Amino acid sequence: MARTLSTRDSTFETEFTALLGAKREDSPDVAETVAKIIADVRSRGDAALVELTNRFDRVSIGAEALRVSESEIDTEIAKVTDEDRAALELAAERIRDYHARQLPPDQSWQDAHGATLGWRWTAVNAAGLYVPGGLASYPSSVLMNAVPAKVAGVRRLAVTVPMPDGIANPLVLLACRLAGVDEVYRVGGAQAIAALAYGTETVRPVDKITGPGNVFVAAAKRAVFGQVGIDMIAGPSEILVISDGTGDPDWIALDLLSQAEHDESAQSLLITTDPAQADAVRAAVEARLETLERREIAGKSWEEFGAIITVSDLDEAAALSDRIAPEHLELVVDDPETLAAKITNAGALFLGQWTPEAIGDYVGGPNHVLPTARSARFSSGLSVMDFVKRTTIARMTPEALKAVGPAAETLAKAEGLEAHGLSVRARLDQLNEGGA
Ligand code: NAD
Repeated sequence: MARTLSTRDSTFETEFTALLGAKREDSPDVAETVAKIIADVRSRGDAALVELTNRFDRVSIGAEALRVSESEIDTEIAKVTDEDRAALELAAERIRDYHARQLPPDQSWQDAHGATLGWRWTAVNAAGLYVPGGLASYPSSVLMNAVPAKVAGVRRLAVTVPMPDGIANPLVLLACRLAGVDEVYRVGGAQAIAALAYGTETVRPVDKITGPGNVFVAAAKRAVFGQVGIDMIAGPSEILVISDGTGDPDWIALDLLSQAEHDESAQSLLITTDPAQADAVRAAVEARLETLERREIAGKSWEEFGAIITVSDLDEAAALSDRIAPEHLELVVDDPETLAAKITNAGALFLGQWTPEAIGDYVGGPNHVLPTARSARFSSGLSVMDFVKRTTIARMTPEALKAVGPAAETLAKAEGLEAHGLSVRARLDQLNEGGA
């Protein structure tokens, strides 16, 4: 049974702090295994990739089969039902429309001295997307990573996806096609990350790697950071629902369970101003858990990490929510906009009773790759911004150099960097001689 907290109890602060600090992720020490795999791929290239793939994914392929051919992709995606295809196309279109609005504008202006200043954005040249495939497949994650990359203007997008026992997932391959992925490799785990970062005979290296994965993938992403960019290391899912007592208890229960069913380490929380609703939601969760297909996972998550917190008013709810900094925050209240204005730390907001979090997982438009483990205090979900970089621009005129150059020379002298100062002075001298 999930725990119950009330801000009226004298023990609340202690219990709430324990809830925030609960260690939800078991991270066995995989660093050594991963370091060996990366070194192996770096030194032996395709030969290592083939060996590791055959061992971990229980297949027997040669280097020529590391890349999934276009004809194989055609054959696989022909198996997708019309209904699944239509749903995936709708998702891709809505995610594309949403992310197209994130493209940042270049800026350029002249300052008071006539210098031209500004910046421009350019896309990362090549991106690698890790698509997990060990225990389950995630076509929606393909879209959430690949579509923003393509919208940003990434020219080359390579996907790596393990295909255990040689089985491809047709929906994953269709998602790659719809998103404009250029290359697909049947490689998983740390070896896939190493290949994307350092390259092999078959896999050309990329500049940035994104996408979720298991502990081996996460450790490998950490290890190659610097050689390439990475997005984030995502932890187990979280949802917080804030209610003023108006929401249907069964709907709220299902929303809580939609995250709990991801992972035994997921966390589902309800904050409500209405104690009667707290009881009703608790009963609804228990009832739904009796029949849910993934009741074992969801039940463990709810029992171990779930909680229902009763508060006196919505201001108190907003303050607690900001301390939790949830990945997903549903506001099931009469006036969600007013409450949303009081929230500063949340990965994604879902306003009102008609916006279940699951809409955001698939077809809402916003990205479902979001900051977990309280990192919404300082970071954001995946976006077009993860696939672009900013280059600053400056152009001085003689007048502008005369106006600001002497200060640069002074600061260079103060820092003891003679050539810096002289590079400015030489130009200023010529301007002064020429009387410009
Ligand atoms: P995966 O593709 O991440 O991992 C499979 C690979 O792990 C194998 O191909 C193998 O190379 C490697 N591996 C397995 N055992 C190994 C060992 N003993 N030594 C070295 N390498 C080993 O697939 P998965 O295991 O199903 O994990 C997917 C993860 O991604 C899950 O934890 C899931 O929750 C997470 N996920 C997160 C999101 C998100 O948005 N946060 C989305 C989808 C999936």
